[in-house]
Amino acid sequence: MTTPTRASSRPQRGEGQWALGYREPLNPNERMKKDSDGLEVRQRILDIYQYTGFNGIDPSDLRGRMRWMGLYTQRAQGIPGGKTAVLEPEELEDSYFMLRVRIDGGQLSADQLRVIAGIATEFGRNVADVTDRQNVQLHWIRIEDVPTIWERLEAVGLGTTEACGDTPRVMLNCPLAGILEDEVIDATDVVTETVAKYVGSPEFSNLPRKWKTSMSGCVDHCTGHEINDVSFVGVVNEDGQAGYDLWVGGGLSTNPKLAQRLGVFVRPDEVTEVWAAVTSVFRDYGYRRQRNRARIKFLMADWGPEKFRQVLQDEFLHRALPDGPAPAPARHDQRDHVGVMRQKDGANAVGFALRTGRTSGSELAAVAELAERFGAGRIRTTAQQKLVILDVPDEKVEDLVAELAVHDLQVRPSAFRRGTMACTGLEFCKLAIVETKHFAQEVYRELEKRLPDFDEPVAININGCPNSCARFQTADIGFKGSMVRDDSGEMVEGFQVHLGGHLGIDAAFGRKFRGHKVTKDETADYCERVLRGYLDRREPGERFAA
Ligand code: SF4
Repeated sequence: MTTPTRASSRPQRGEGQWALGYREPLNPNERMKKDSDGLEVRQRILDIYQYTGFNGIDPSDLRGRMRWMGLYTQRAQGIPGGKTAVLEPEELEDSYFMLRVRIDGGQLSADQLRVIAGIATEFGRNVADVTDRQNVQLHWIRIEDVPTIWERLEAVGLGTTEACGDTPRVMLNCPLAGILEDEVIDATDVVTETVAKYVGSPEFSNLPRKWKTSMSGCVDHCTGHEINDVSFVGVVNEDGQAGYDLWVGGGLSTNPKLAQRLGVFVRPDEVTEVWAAVTSVFRDYGYRRQRNRARIKFLMADWGPEKFRQVLQDEFLHRALPDGPAPAPARHDQRDHVGVMRQKDGANAVGFALRTGRTSGSELAAVAELAERFGAGRIRTTAQQKLVILDVPDEKVEDLVAELAVHDLQVRPSAFRRGTMACTGLEFCKLAIVETKHFAQEVYRELEKRLPDFDEPVAININGCPNSCARFQTADIGFKGSMVRDDSGEMVEGFQVHLGGHLGIDAAFGRKFRGHKVTKDETADYCERVLRGYLDRREPGERFAA
């Protein structure tokens, strides 16, 4: 095994790795980050842009650094998907932003949720989305209102710093960390420590691209460690000590890769340091020449886990980590923590489905009120666009289930509603080709009518473009938004279908079959055909897997 040499031996054509001497920016994004660190945009919002409004924002801040503060320009209403590829970014946007509130580990108090709800109601036209990374995303935000929004969020310990951008984004943890009896380890402290030390730090505010972290001891692997850039997965070593197995290099988008185990055991008190070392490998050796090769999965594909471990230990940790065991397989088929779950203190956690993550400020305020009335005011967001209310005594569970149902929040949803996720899509996303949030709701409602008795776990993930924010490659039936030809030869909104994706012990990405393209109108029919085919052919005890 050879360790790459630093600046002294520069390869003929590098990929922009800082550690090999490529410090001069090799593309406009790298130039933007070098000219002014992304975090510096916060002060300009406070000092300048809140007064100038949208039209006074410097373009490199507007479409670049704003993301470091969780802000994306929003797609203008009424622009069809067929225009996405032909219009310039400025032609696709209106004067509003999407704003992502980071909720590390998905842990919220009722007061915090009420503040988010109030912001959505007052500044965001009462629209909110619970994302599949445990965030809440708001829409229709004006730059003039951002300082007030930050004040309100920060007053309750929330924020938007590095919720997007080439930075350490929200860190996932099991929403039931510290709550369930059977977890391997509670990762709450290591998430809290790592966030406190490194989020907003200039040390990691210029990474090659986004940096997705998961730290969890969940027995169901609910945070999807296989598809995060860096994951600490709860394990118990041969001495009976609980700690973490380190995985690096997962990611979806247009070139999906599963994370690799480095084979090391990380003690809880080492996690923050090891996370910083892995992040430093990415910062210094990550590819910066081409944006579409700037995720760590490409470095891992070239190096492999052995070399990655060696470089991590030799150059960044300056010590060897001990070997460690692999995690046990997930205990249950579904990773979403929907339903009524027994807490180790004897109370109950009550998880429920929204409508493919879509909610509103008024609904979130109602959830905060229910969490206080039926529990102890603790709420969790999941990595499957769901919510959980904690600490509900046995005698109050069914009353809470009924109250949630009044708001169309389902503790016992159909398999289709439970298993359907959708990304932001054409409604607000400038990259989208297809509308997704409302359409996904139509699909699951239609399937509920057509297959009322279907009760197997099934994942149907609907995405508005190839970027796979709602993970089409890991679904039983995954839909990737694209323009497709209908029967009359017209190009219309539709999907390329990917079948049979799943995470877990035999994780695999869904396969794209030639000719499996559907228009939006054909989508429910297609799902019904696949699901009926399974029902007709299944062997006793066989679970659905497309
Ligand atoms: Fe936007 Fe595409 Fe991501 Fe959907 S998958 S939110 S359309 S970038």
